[in-house]
Amino acid sequence: MNDDNTPQPWALDAHRESLIWAANIIEKADVLLIGAGAGMSVDSGVPYFRSKRGFWKTYPPAEKLGVNYADIASGPWFHQDPAMSWGFILHCKRLFEQHEPHEGYHILKRWADSKETSWVYTSNVDRYFHRVGFQPERITEIHGSDLRLQCTVPCCRETWDVDWSTLDMDEDTLQLTTPPPRCPYCNELARPNVLMFCDQRWIGDATREQENRMTTWLNAQRGKSVAVIELGAGTIVPNVRFQFERYARAYGTRLIRINLSEPQGNEDTLGIALPALTSLRAMNQLLL
Ligand SMILES: [Zn+2]
Repeated sequence: MNDDNTPQPWALDAHRESLIWAANIIEKADVLLIGAGAGMSVDSGVPYFRSKRGFWKTYPPAEKLGVNYADIASGPWFHQDPAMSWGFILHCKRLFEQHEPHEGYHILKRWADSKETSWVYTSNVDRYFHRVGFQPERITEIHGSDLRLQCTVPCCRETWDVDWSTLDMDEDTLQLTTPPPRCPYCNELARPNVLMFCDQRWIGDATREQENRMTTWLNAQRGKSVAVIELGAGTIVPNVRFQFERYARAYGTRLIRINLSEPQGNEDTLGIALPALTSLRAMNQLLL
């Protein structure tokens, strides 16, 4: 790989047939169904937290404590060390905002605009699909959104807006340096309305509402030619992969699975072992 994450030409050549096939599916489709996991955001410069090395490189204080991403971004850790959990979440939020959605997001948006309709189903909370202009009412955020807060208890099912600019943290210790937000209903600690690991207390009402709207949309696309494309969704949290295998089967199409290290699937999966941005650029060239 080169420094800019562009594979050598031979790597693209090895996938040329699959890329042509995928581009054909996308070209002929009336409808675009997009699924995204953490691998989609890596090309924007957002660190890949699932690898311990990548996580510790970004968060040296976590290495000192010997904790990985799944520990710190978990429900139990939030209760054990809320100042650190809040510090970590605030740091993630800043990272997402410092980076721009990569060109692949814009390519997907152009493809979506050329179709009758489209839907995005993502496990990412970076809101990059929103930032390039995908309609919020046609996005399912399966892990929730950090735009809203909820009670840690929780004393009720309410969620509310948060002003992140009032919060600050110390990057050396990863600790929040301002008082953490509190629940306006019971005054207990508040937390982002995002699904964490081992999280029994997440209020998923907003996600369920999005899923219900998506079901109605999916039913309305029956009989149409639907391109089903999944990008950077791994096997550790496999929800996106399972769902997209189901969708591809339901619409009688091949699943376009773009995944650098885990492109495998059933006989109807068109697996492409390349980074998301590289694949999207290559298919876009073929579609021009
Ligand atoms: Zn409360």
